Amino acid sequence: MTLSSKPWRRTAPRPASSTGTVAALAAITVALASAALPTAAQTAAQTARTAVPALPALKPTWDLSTLFASDEAWDAERRALLAELPALRALRQGFGRDAASLRAALDRLSDAQRRFSRAWVYASAHGSTDNRDARNQERVALMRAAGGQFGAATSWVPGAIRELGTEKVEAFLRADPALAKHAVRLRDVLRQAKHQLHPEAEAALAALSPALNSTTSTRSLLVNADIPWPELTVAGRTERLNDTGYARLREHPDRAVREQVFKTFFGAYGRYANTLGTTLAQRVEQGVIQARLRGHPSAVAASLAEHDIPESVYRTLVAEVGRGLPTLHRYFRLRQRLLGLPDLAYHDIYPDMVASPRRFPLAETAALTLASVAPLGADYQTLLAQAYAAGTMDVYPAEGKSSGAYQSGIYGQTPLIFLNHQDSFGSASTFTHEWGHGMHTILANRTQPYETARYPLFVAEIAAFTHELLLQEHMLKQAATREERLFFLGEALERLRGAFFRQAMFAEFELATHDAVQRGEALTGRRMTQLYCELLGRYHGQAEGVMKIDPVVCSEWAYIPHFYRPFYVYQYATSMAAASHFAQRILDGGARERETYLDVLRAGGSMHPVPLLQRAGLDMRSPEPYRALVARMDALLDEMERLLPQ
Ligand SMILES: [Zn+2]
Repeated sequence: MTLSSKPWRRTAPRPASSTGTVAALAAITVALASAALPTAAQTAAQTARTAVPALPALKPTWDLSTLFASDEAWDAERRALLAELPALRALRQGFGRDAASLRAALDRLSDAQRRFSRAWVYASAHGSTDNRDARNQERVALMRAAGGQFGAATSWVPGAIRELGTEKVEAFLRADPALAKHAVRLRDVLRQAKHQLHPEAEAALAALSPALNSTTSTRSLLVNADIPWPELTVAGRTERLNDTGYARLREHPDRAVREQVFKTFFGAYGRYANTLGTTLAQRVEQGVIQARLRGHPSAVAASLAEHDIPESVYRTLVAEVGRGLPTLHRYFRLRQRLLGLPDLAYHDIYPDMVASPRRFPLAETAALTLASVAPLGADYQTLLAQAYAAGTMDVYPAEGKSSGAYQSGIYGQTPLIFLNHQDSFGSASTFTHEWGHGMHTILANRTQPYETARYPLFVAEIAAFTHELLLQEHMLKQAATREERLFFLGEALERLRGAFFRQAMFAEFELATHDAVQRGEALTGRRMTQLYCELLGRYHGQAEGVMKIDPVVCSEWAYIPHFYRPFYVYQYATSMAAASHFAQRILDGGARERETYLDVLRAGGSMHPVPLLQRAGLDMRSPEPYRALVARMDALLDEMERLLPQ
């Protein structure tokens, strides 16, 4: 997934641009070395050892018949899977009698899981390309129902593993090497066993869970169906200021329009702060209570325990972002200067600092991405070119198509890449981001058995951001004019703000709300607005005179749906820091640095994220990765300031 799509960019359309003169390129390459990027000699060496593979013909719509030859074939598989459920339930009998029977049962379960996800991908991919088609809706609904049944038929598995106990499971693992592919899952279940409640309490919680988990749908119905969103007339056109309208208009070139948009939109959220605050407070309380019941020291610790991530990773991120705020403020001052504004407000964050007429049509975007990953080696490029040729992309916006972008992995096949490409640089970044996920899937699938190929979000976004950073560097290297160079520097800076600082601010808000409940304080919409106002002020340098925060925008917390998935978004910030580290190493280094990075991708989900990254020389509990990212941002700012007239 991507953090934000920029569907609207006011730049004049122009045919695919050329790459500029060789002389200008050479001059830029030298200037670039100062921003701690590869030297001209290294760049030349990399270019020499990897000739970019030819761009294959690109199909703009995906072909799902490689998954199932027909809808009938898909439905036959769905029925076959449902017919198998009694047998999966029956595996409970004699489960783990000996190593061989444990392996047979787990193999059978993962085979069913693999077939199930394949059928699910087919249904959901059809659904996202046309939500209006009743057959598509039906297929998704059928798979949801099948998923519920599948979950119920296999819900006994973790309990049965816990019953076996660590000693027995470890003995089985020693006795039968073919059990190794199941080791990660077995040990994860056992590691978390101490947080399990008495079976009766677990059953009671499970029975209550539909009622406990209703906050997300309450919010969604309120925001998408019940709130009468205000309208605003912009250049003679009536615009509805719901989430979509806001996302489109917040980068409007006219400052007065932007100010109106922010006041109106966040004013509307503010009017529902009581209700939305109660809904979110319930979600926070749920997390705090569950953590306490299960014997975790805090809600954040409980959430991170799933992938064995120490709480210090989260706390270090927040502390280090706090230290890096002067760099963010420096960026805001530069933004104010480039936009030519007498002061800076929250509604000035989204318009481009530097305009660019350049367009990024599909073929050019694909070619640029292919060229930009040259530092990852010729094999990597060849794999990417082959994946392009597989016809698994759905590229352009269409009536009934879902918004946004995603990558969907299928074991043993080229992943699906879902896009809404609009020829902007934002679209090009999304393209390369999703193919970063795609290549991660391809490498993990080639290296790992099905059971350990799937990777958690904590590492997933690293692959996607590394692709984005490599594309940024490639564009900077190519930029032929000062303006072009300023444009790409501006894009790089804005990406660091959005993916690192903003997500860290959200992470801090989540900590503050959970801490308040843990201390027994009343958490209301009003209190959330206060907390958010304090954070906005601090992050945007209100006391330092960088930006004045209009209190009306302090209801922005109500607009962020991710808060209903607590302690999730911090992983964008940690991933951006990790990606900056790896991109730098890859660009500065040689085969060893490249392979170290690729080994992280190849590992899939075979190791927990923190030790996996540590093996690659990156300690996410230490301040270093976050400081390196801030240093990179300073280097980009230095470079941009040098290019501007004094
Ligand atoms: Zn992503």
